[in-house]
Amino acid sequence: MTDIQHFINGRRVDGSSGRWGDVFNPATGEQIRRVAFADRAEVDAAVQAAKAAFPAWAAAPPLARARTMFKFVDLLHREQDNLARMISEEHGKVFSDAQGEITRGLEVVEFACGIPHLMAGEFTEQVGRGIDSWSVRQPLGVCVGITPFNFPAMVPMWMFPVALACGNTFVLKPSERDPSAGHRIAELLLEAGVPAGVFNVVNGDREAVETLLAHPDVAAVSFVGSTAIASHIYATAAQSGKRVQALGGAKNHMVVMPDADLDQATDALMGAAYGAAGERCMAVSVAVAVGGVGDRLMDKLEPRVRALKIGPGTDPEAEMGPLVTRQHLERVRSYVDLGVQEGARLVVDGRGLKLQGYENGFFLGGCLFDDVKPEMRIYREEIFGPVLSVVRAPGFEDAVKLCNDHEYGNGVAIFTRDGDAAREFTSRIQIGMVGVNVPIPVPMAFHSFGGWKRSLFGDNAVYGMEGVRFYTRLKTVTARWPAGIRSGAEYVMPTMR
Ligand code: NAD
Repeated sequence: MTDIQHFINGRRVDGSSGRWGDVFNPATGEQIRRVAFADRAEVDAAVQAAKAAFPAWAAAPPLARARTMFKFVDLLHREQDNLARMISEEHGKVFSDAQGEITRGLEVVEFACGIPHLMAGEFTEQVGRGIDSWSVRQPLGVCVGITPFNFPAMVPMWMFPVALACGNTFVLKPSERDPSAGHRIAELLLEAGVPAGVFNVVNGDREAVETLLAHPDVAAVSFVGSTAIASHIYATAAQSGKRVQALGGAKNHMVVMPDADLDQATDALMGAAYGAAGERCMAVSVAVAVGGVGDRLMDKLEPRVRALKIGPGTDPEAEMGPLVTRQHLERVRSYVDLGVQEGARLVVDGRGLKLQGYENGFFLGGCLFDDVKPEMRIYREEIFGPVLSVVRAPGFEDAVKLCNDHEYGNGVAIFTRDGDAAREFTSRIQIGMVGVNVPIPVPMAFHSFGGWKRSLFGDNAVYGMEGVRFYTRLKTVTARWPAGIRSGAEYVMPTMR
């Protein structure tokens, strides 16, 4: 059994706190690794390494930084399958899904290759007589990323490629449940030519996070995880004067209009609700059946959920793997129990699933509820498992109100053939990412990713231009070269003459 350590100043640093976390293979239920939990001194060492590396990295020409990102793209292509295997082994998602995760992260690195263009400032000649003015974007300093278990490579890649290309240095605190990918990424960045200290990884739990949030040398914090922690991170980091973006949980609805192509909508719901066992922040966990479409939709969904192919991530036939830990499996299962108690109709019950050869794995079969009501906890709370709730809504207005009244606002989709309904929906919906006949509308790298309401605390979404704004601050210079101009002291507010 190998141990996963920290990566500080360009090399592996063995944990000395004596505290460890257990890493499991969710398909077998076996512990496969231990991960070191950093104490305050270890976190401080990582921040100091990033702080020391900052001046030279910030002063490097933007193109020099971009070239390391180009090289990193090459290395990600080379290592894609290796990283995907690591992720599949520790997270449980099927291998092809893990490959897709690397691709979506890689796209952000490709975006970061072009950041020199986006850092070009603005210049106005002659804002006053003989006076020019220009604005530049400069890096912040040491930036921190605290990331969740469900995308151990992609979510860090939402953050650090943009931060680094803008001239910042970085400390990543990955999820303690699947930390191997973060460590490998640190090695690859070094191989790509990113200098030691520019990118560091500390593993750990709450102690590491709290140390980073309070650290005086940390300039900015990017967080992705559950809403309770996101709101705590936002308040705490802001309190200590840091720039912060904290992305939280979700309850994504897919509205199915009576005129929708129901085969297309059913395919979309299957992939979006049960892919990655529902452990995606953009997973669809609520289908809103509008008008009379509910019975027809259920007729199509039920046999498909029963027929889901569930297996270990290594099985190329499997459509869905296990949940990440036994504790999470118990939590999701308890939500299914709760839904039954609350009076929802459990049409497909995945609780009894047993897989031969994987009896100790953290598997749950696909679950499908009908007649879910807005006041039920299974509707209000994020379950983060393979559980789809169908809610019946009499009309379009009721469907819009349902989505808008929910406390989360990450993603939403509408399935319809009616352009007028789709246009009205996209305009009025109070949610950050909207799909029209697209179930998981994760924006491409040159747009930006971010929800509304309790799905994002802070002002900037991640990656794209929003990421560049987050990881830089604006400086505006007003300059006069006074060749012979003498106007004497001025005591009034300067205005243009
Ligand atoms: P989590 O909130 O448990 O953990 C996220 C990170 O916070 C981890 O690095 C963890 O070590 C740390 N952490 C956990 N408890 C902490 C505490 N008490 N104090 C300080 N730090 C703490 O989330 P998770 O279970 O790893 O991931 C699943 C959650 O992430 C879901 O709610 C999902 O919706 C959300 N998520 C959101 C997005 C998004 O873009 N909005 C993307 C991916 C995941």
